[in-house]
Amino acid sequence: MQDRAPQPAILSFEDARHVVEDHAARFAPPEAQTVDLLAAAGRVLAEPVAADRHIPPFPRSTRDGYAVRASDLAHPPATLDVIGEIRAGEKIDNIPAHIAAGQAVAIMTGAPVPAGADAVVMLEYSQESGARVELSRSVAPGENIVPAGAEARSGSILIMRGTRLNDAALALAASAGQSQLKVYRRPRVAVLTTGDEIVEVSAQPGPTEIRNSNSYSLAVQIQEAGGEPVLLPIAPDESKGLCHLIEKGLTHDLLLMTGGVSMGRYDLVEQVLQELKAEFFFTGAKIQPGRPVVFGRCGSVASGRDTYFFGLPGNPVSTMVTFELFARPMLEALAGTSPRKLAFVYARLKSEIRIKTGLTRFLPATLSGEFEHSFVELVAWQGSGDIAATARANCYIVIPPDRERIPAGEFVPILPR
Ligand code: AMP
Ligand code: MG
Repeated sequence: MQDRAPQPAILSFEDARHVVEDHAARFAPPEAQTVDLLAAAGRVLAEPVAADRHIPPFPRSTRDGYAVRASDLAHPPATLDVIGEIRAGEKIDNIPAHIAAGQAVAIMTGAPVPAGADAVVMLEYSQESGARVELSRSVAPGENIVPAGAEARSGSILIMRGTRLNDAALALAASAGQSQLKVYRRPRVAVLTTGDEIVEVSAQPGPTEIRNSNSYSLAVQIQEAGGEPVLLPIAPDESKGLCHLIEKGLTHDLLLMTGGVSMGRYDLVEQVLQELKAEFFFTGAKIQPGRPVVFGRCGSVASGRDTYFFGLPGNPVSTMVTFELFARPMLEALAGTSPRKLAFVYARLKSEIRIKTGLTRFLPATLSGEFEHSFVELVAWQGSGDIAATARANCYIVIPPDRERIPAGEFVPILPR
């Protein structure tokens, strides 16, 4: 057999992940474009958004009730003079300039608290009769009032560059008057599936042929991570045709290949990349599924620059898992997102797991139950080719390489999917 990668390195899961993160941290941000506020959902912010005024802009009442001086209610009940009413959006001229001792003003949620008042008593503790109100409870100074600028000062940064814009970020941008936002261009990610047995979805497969499904799982994952997938034609298990398509893939912002990275005689991806003088950062990770995953960088003659690539194993679940673990952080960085560490969440295991040690495993599982009584269990599967089992799963249970047996009831790390 020919030489495989020049510096074959099979890393632990954590080391492999850190290698990717180190490279991902080096990217210069992509170009920016301006889009309408709603079109910015899910995109990455290219320019910080600052508060154009205090939030809230005035001391805001958080309750319907009476604005008072807290000291007037030191010994409840107390009866105060009602000198007016303030609604949300009340014209500034209609708001009493000052509340004096012994006075109160009826106030609504979201209305500005007038000067002199330092607390709001809830309507529930009041009894109004004529121009007077009896209040049955004391209040602490500041109670039920958010001071002007307490949530954000005018001019302060509300949303940092590199933030993926979710519901709260969009609401914050709206509250700062941004009807348009500057976001980064989406990186274009080439998807190259390899294998003589693989045929297009629209084709009628022969008895030994398999329809291409990996390009579609990857396209979805790429879009979710903020990229734009570009599906290349299926590459044959033959050097020349494969090389041509790899070169084409290298003209994109990132190249994802699936299949052809295992030990078989027709697994030619690494060999072709080696001929193209690629650098390899790792050629395997001690994980299951996805052990033969490859990460590297290769110069493109056509584009005149270096492009990162991943060779993802062809088994469909391996492809999905290795994208999630390694390609996603790279793509997020290319998209301009501030890098973040991979954090697992924990769930209680329903049934015991027994497994061989040596690999970090990411096994398809279902998280179910209700409220605080949730639990997780492995789905029955036929191994890393079983897309049907994975489609029934909503997470992966993460099993560390040193665990042979995990008893039911233990909290185990999971990776949502
Ligand atoms: P490989 O990594 O090329 O050895 O492929 C491993 C397994 O994944 C084989 O059973 C392939 O037929 C299958 N496979 C490879 N690529 C795809 C694909 N694009 N869609 C579905 N199955 C695939
Ligand atoms: Mg193959």
